[in-house]
Amino acid sequence: MQKILVIEDEPTVREMLVLNLQAEGFEVLETGDGVDGLNLAREQLPDLLLLDLMLPSLDGISVCRMLRRSSQVPIIMLTARGAELDRIMGLESGADDYVVKPFSLGELLARVRALLRRADPAQRDSGTKLQSGDLHLDLLAQRAQLGAQELRLTHREFTLLAELMRHANTALTREGLLSSVWGYDFPGDTHTVDVHIHWLREKIEPDPTSPRRIATVRGVGYRFEG
Ligand code: CA
Repeated sequence: MQKILVIEDEPTVREMLVLNLQAEGFEVLETGDGVDGLNLAREQLPDLLLLDLMLPSLDGISVCRMLRRSSQVPIIMLTARGAELDRIMGLESGADDYVVKPFSLGELLARVRALLRRADPAQRDSGTKLQSGDLHLDLLAQRAQLGAQELRLTHREFTLLAELMRHANTALTREGLLSSVWGYDFPGDTHTVDVHIHWLREKIEPDPTSPRRIATVRGVGYRFEG
């Protein structure tokens, strides 16, 4: 579970943030004090900070700069006014992003997720790349590689393989594949799926007669062995 530290001295704003972040599945630490926040950040190593600018004992910019000496944790500053915003920008606090109060919760959550994705190399490529052993799919470039060799897949084969790999180790039905890969929302000819699986195996299996990557699940459909 990803951990977010909220440093905000206004109780209503802090409570709103804490409740909503918890509802989104984050573990949340909170404080209303700058020094306390700095200590929490150093000890608890959160994945992201929401940091108010004006705080008792130590302001947000100081917290940010002190933390930056030893940490690259993503920081979103919360600020109230244009003048405060100028300070954030002018002082090069080291914050990654900022939102101006009153902010929309949806926008804040979107920024939180974007920063967490950027900070985590494992997540950064998720959704755009799939890999299993020496088989690599690049969904953006629509390229498939087996080891150093570029695979020549048709668009349909590529989409089918991506769908199987995305649900690795899960049995997918022929009907489900027809719907997700071919876009049929009616029962179609499931033999089409079998034919494409056959072609895919010819291209990605070392021995297509005894497939290891795409297993047949009798009476159901197929399963990619991830
Ligand atoms: Ca404040």
